[in-house]
Amino acid sequence: MKVRFYGAAGEVTGSCHEVHANGKTLLLDCGMIQGSDEDEKRNELPFPFEAARIDAVVLSHAHIDHCGRLPLLIHRGYTGPIYTQAATADLLKILLEDAASLALMDAERDNKHRRDGHQNHQPLFTKADVAKVMSHVKTMPYDQAREILPGISVTLRDAGHILGSACVTLEAEGRTLLFSGDIGPKGTPILRDPAVQHKADLVLIESTYGGRLHRTREDTIAELGEIFEQAERDGGNVLIPAFAVGRSQELLYWFAKYYEQWNLKRWKIFLDSPMAVKVVEVMDGHEDLFDEDAKKVWQGKINPFRLPNLHFTPEVSQSQEINQIKHGAIIIAGSGMCTGGRIRHHLRNSLGNKKHHVVFVGYQAQGTLGRRLVDGAKIVRIFNEEVHVNARLHTIGGLSAHADQAGLIDWYSSIDNQPPVVLVHGEDDARNAMKEVMQEKFGNQVSLATPGMEMDV
Ligand code: ZN
Repeated sequence: MKVRFYGAAGEVTGSCHEVHANGKTLLLDCGMIQGSDEDEKRNELPFPFEAARIDAVVLSHAHIDHCGRLPLLIHRGYTGPIYTQAATADLLKILLEDAASLALMDAERDNKHRRDGHQNHQPLFTKADVAKVMSHVKTMPYDQAREILPGISVTLRDAGHILGSACVTLEAEGRTLLFSGDIGPKGTPILRDPAVQHKADLVLIESTYGGRLHRTREDTIAELGEIFEQAERDGGNVLIPAFAVGRSQELLYWFAKYYEQWNLKRWKIFLDSPMAVKVVEVMDGHEDLFDEDAKKVWQGKINPFRLPNLHFTPEVSQSQEINQIKHGAIIIAGSGMCTGGRIRHHLRNSLGNKKHHVVFVGYQAQGTLGRRLVDGAKIVRIFNEEVHVNARLHTIGGLSAHADQAGLIDWYSSIDNQPPVVLVHGEDDARNAMKEVMQEKFGNQVSLATPGMEMDV
């Protein structure tokens, strides 16, 4: 068995690895590259492989940087199945459709602003392409091996990262390849902890936070409560750019848990993301995947998805009405890195005023508006307008959906035989830090994936 690395090899987006075994070829993930406009242009390039030649795809989870080029894969000739967990399949449709809408809006805006008369910016894919992707999806439960191609079997195990997320074990030719997908931290609300792994001959491990340790969740949550207090005193609103899948729902979980303590009834809370609202519906349908604590919370007095002052605002007009509220609103909106979505409208309206607060609760990739804000930019461009940054910005790291260095090491330690490791899905600083720690602790072989690199399993 051989594995070749195409994406998320030296960066945190565009996850895509190719595996050859038993004369067959399969892809682990087919993700979109996200970041600056220049980075995202790379999504249009031809794949470094022939799509029609791939026999199967296994998808670790529904985040766009893992699934976002599946529509292109099919458009360019792929005809095989896409194996994934059932909740991932539900989320996949929502995320890809959202990406298709964003792509269409970007293309339209770009065409409108072009002065050279060429209006030929086509969206990367459309909702019709998404429907085609969905017709290729075959769902699998966790923890059951399935022979997806002759002599190649796949097992998905809970990765605890987002609902339906999986670590993928591939067995063929008497060898075992383990692909971590994205691994969640232990103790993530709602989700179960990452499942214990067993044995492997080679492990591909994500390393988004391979170079750091998160604050504890308790500290983070306390900080969030303090920000609400401060924002109340300042008479402003609180904007929370949040990923629609997972983070938005996790915030609601914390709001339910600390409803009294934070006196949240003073606020109007908006889930201003049509996608996050759809994800709430999906999560409601997959309570079987919740951890024990969440099952109890869902049976308790305050259901996180039905807080008395929580407003879902799927319609554009409802979102625009929020702009009239000058204080007392907590607005959760996408996208999480401020690269698109409604949060950009809210930021344009609010960043200039120091009474408002913006709370970053997730990873901000290089090249994104979120990263520029977190890095302290005093002026940013939003919708071709210069916006001065006077609002109070906060970054709270402890709510990550990715395990930190200790979490990754802990996950790896659960593998019986401490096999060689290839680090993927991380910027180089993070991967180098991770490599150093792993070699010191385990004395094992640790490589950093580079685009096009090939390894025997
Ligand atoms: Zn992910």
